[in-house]
Amino acid sequence: MTSSATDTFLIVGSGLSGILMAWELEKRGVDYEVWNSGAKSGPESNSATQVAAGMFNPVSFKRLVEVWNAHEHLNAMRETYQSLEHFLNLQGELFHISPIMRVFPNSQYRDLWSKRLNDAHPVAGFLSEISDDCPHDVIAPHGFGVVPEAGWVNLPLLIKSFRLNLELRGKYFEKHWDFSTQIPPKFSHLIDCRGVGATKDFASIGLKIASDHGEILTIQSPINTNGMCVNRVKWLLPRGDSTFKLGATYKWDITKSEPTDAGRSELLLALQPIIAANVFDNFNITDHVSGLRPASTDRRPYAGQVNHLKNTYILNGLGTRGVFVGPTTASHLANFIFDQTPLPEEIRSARFIK
Ligand SMILES: Cc1cc2nc3c(=O)[nH]c(=O)nc-3n(C[C@H](O)[C@H](O)[C@H](O)COP(=O)(O)OP(=O)(O)OC[C@H]3O[C@@H](n4cnc5c(N)ncnc54)[C@H](O)[C@@H]3O)c2cc1C
Repeated sequence: MTSSATDTFLIVGSGLSGILMAWELEKRGVDYEVWNSGAKSGPESNSATQVAAGMFNPVSFKRLVEVWNAHEHLNAMRETYQSLEHFLNLQGELFHISPIMRVFPNSQYRDLWSKRLNDAHPVAGFLSEISDDCPHDVIAPHGFGVVPEAGWVNLPLLIKSFRLNLELRGKYFEKHWDFSTQIPPKFSHLIDCRGVGATKDFASIGLKIASDHGEILTIQSPINTNGMCVNRVKWLLPRGDSTFKLGATYKWDITKSEPTDAGRSELLLALQPIIAANVFDNFNITDHVSGLRPASTDRRPYAGQVNHLKNTYILNGLGTRGVFVGPTTASHLANFIFDQTPLPEEIRSARFIK
């Protein structure tokens, strides 16, 4: 399409995907509104963004490889969140660098890390040398390595501030939208960013949104990790003022989000072996939250057009790495809508849509 002065977009959903799309339209000077459901229960009430730790990490630790298109995502992400900080007057509050200290689970993993560095593997540029010089309260008998270009984005602050900004300009409304009603008359185009709220409707067009249930604990502790996020099976992320996030659990195809005793135990048990006993025993758990990540079937986001609905677009499936891959995906979708630039094949929702 070519954008005309009379075009008005409706973005449905003001989680991370909706806010990133709003930012794309904002930068292009396009007129838009954002609607978000006020439902208190059911899939529509779920906000993954509200509970997420907001971490980003260019490395996939399981196989010790870089995340797909890691450099592109890292650059776009940094640029986007720092611009948003500026736009929302939140300098220094949204985007935080917090290197990840990967505690090696065994000597084989240590050898693999060493091999990646020695072979100049593409992931090597994201990895530090191996070290045995651990922060005092962390236990790492096989040593550890660091990913310096990692950190977190304060997602609850981002959505709260962006919504407030929109509200003050008469662009944000607490409203439900129904897939079957198509585009409300006032609008020329619609971008559907409903996360797991879209699951049922998208199933009818052949697009599966899986609900990936996750839980996170908030902990108060004087533990010193030298400002790093400690990772082994689970992660412990410092958030300042002796506050840490401990996460996360992953349970597939659960449709109701609620914190569970099993989730709490899983998180604590996974962390216990790598934290000094006197510190671990004095953890004070101050919060326990859960949410449903909207996940795709091949771990790539969904972006594109709903074929049978004119001028209706989708951004969904951000999964476990929304912070990292969201900005690039939103930018590709905007280029597709406004400049007819073809979407990269790996994120085109048409790869699944009937
Ligand atoms: C426990 C947990 C930890 C996580 N940690 C991280 C992390 O560290 N790093 C990371 O990158 N990602 C993380 N994620 C994933 C991240 O949260 C998601 O990738 C991202 O937030 C998804 O954003 P979204 O906008 O697509 O969905 P959501 O945030 O769920 O937003 C969808 C919005 O649409 C609204 N909506 C739904 N239906 C309707 C309707 N019919 N009408 C109007 N509005 C509607 C909902 O109310 C909601 O506000 C985590 C997720 C969870 C659950």
